[in-house]
Order: sequence, then C-alpha cells, then structure tokens
Amino acid sequence: MTTASIEELFVHNREWAQQMERDRPGFFTGLMAQQKPRYMWIGCSDSRVPANQITGLEPGEVFVHRNVANVVVPSDLNALSTIQYAVDQLQVQHLMVVGHYGCGGVRAAMEDIRVGLADNWIRHVKDVRDKYASVLESLSPQWRLDALCELNVIEQVANVAHSTVVHDAWARGQDLTLHGWCYSLQNGLITNVEVTVPGAGGLDEVQRRAVEHVASRQRG
Ligand SMILES: [Zn+2]
Repeated sequence: MTTASIEELFVHNREWAQQMERDRPGFFTGLMAQQKPRYMWIGCSDSRVPANQITGLEPGEVFVHRNVANVVVPSDLNALSTIQYAVDQLQVQHLMVVGHYGCGGVRAAMEDIRVGLADNWIRHVKDVRDKYASVLESLSPQWRLDALCELNVIEQVANVAHSTVVHDAWARGQDLTLHGWCYSLQNGLITNVEVTVPGAGGLDEVQRRAVEHVASRQRG
C-alpha cells in the first residue's frame, strides 16, 4: 500500500516532466544554467500552503524557506543563511513573510497547547502573543487567532528587517522590499497585512500602523 502510493509520486513526476517539456521545450535545460528568482517566500511548513501554487509561480521564480509558524529568529542559522543567499547572491527584489489563518503553531501559542519539542520553537510566537496581549484582549475571542496570525507576520517581517543581511543590503542601496501576507485556507486568498517595508527607516511607523490595522480588520 505504502510502496504503491510512493510509486505514484514517481509516476506523477515523470508525467509532469514530460508535460513541461512538451509545453515548454528547453524549460529544464534553461533553468539548469541559473536560477534568478525575484521573490523570496518565508512561510509555514503547513502542507496546505505551497508557495508556488498559491502565487502561480513556476520553478525558478521563488526562493523558499518554510518552518513551523513562519518564524524568523535572529539566532536561526538556517533561516539567516537562506535569507543571505537570496539577498546577496540571488538579489531577490521582494521578500515576503507569509502566515496563514488557522495556523496550528499559532493556535498552540494562543491556547498554550503542548505539542512536544516544537513547544520550544512556538515560544517565539508566544512572545508575540505576550507583546500584543492588550491588542488581542481588545478583540472578541473569535478574531483573536486570526489577529495573532497577522501580528506574528508583522513581527517576523520586523525581524527580517533587523537582520544584518537586510541592513547591509539597504545600506548599499540594494532594491529590496519586505512584505507581510496572510493566506486563507478557507478560500485560497492572500491578505496583505500592510507591513510593506521598501528600505531602511520608517519600520517602526509601518509596524505601528500595521498593528492598528490588525485590530480594525479583525473587528471587521
Ligand atoms: Zn501554519
């Protein structure tokens, strides 16, 4: 049973590769030469939030880093290395942190649910929860989880903005804009959390306004 389902993946893969080559002769050999994506996506590992499919991007068009609850921790060598490669080597122009409503990691942080080792990771989302406790408490309980998903995105965009990699890129005048988005599992649509940061300076003001927007959006 398991072997059969794994074999199916190889069948799908061969069909996909053939279809791509039929539709776009030279597609793979063209990409072999180099990747030149314009976008970097930092998203949740959740299987329902695949970067390429949601945005209609093809192989070669988006550089992706995913982890539980799309968290960017200043000491996370994995995330920082990926961001550094995307910014310095690939020179991506847009970096988006993409959360999603109904995120299990965010829910665990919100409701203090024990999930195991990941509790330590989710601690970072609990920090966001605690930082914005007054905002969350001002909302009716039904909106709090969605609000924390958005607040987490805002906070992680700020973490990216404060990274040395992004600091240095902006200092040398590189064209790089940060974005914060939230994806809906319910209808497949992306909400712009309006924490767009086009360069150094102004982050605090953008962040402050984005947090205000969360409260007003979730009150509906
Ligand atoms: Zn998630």
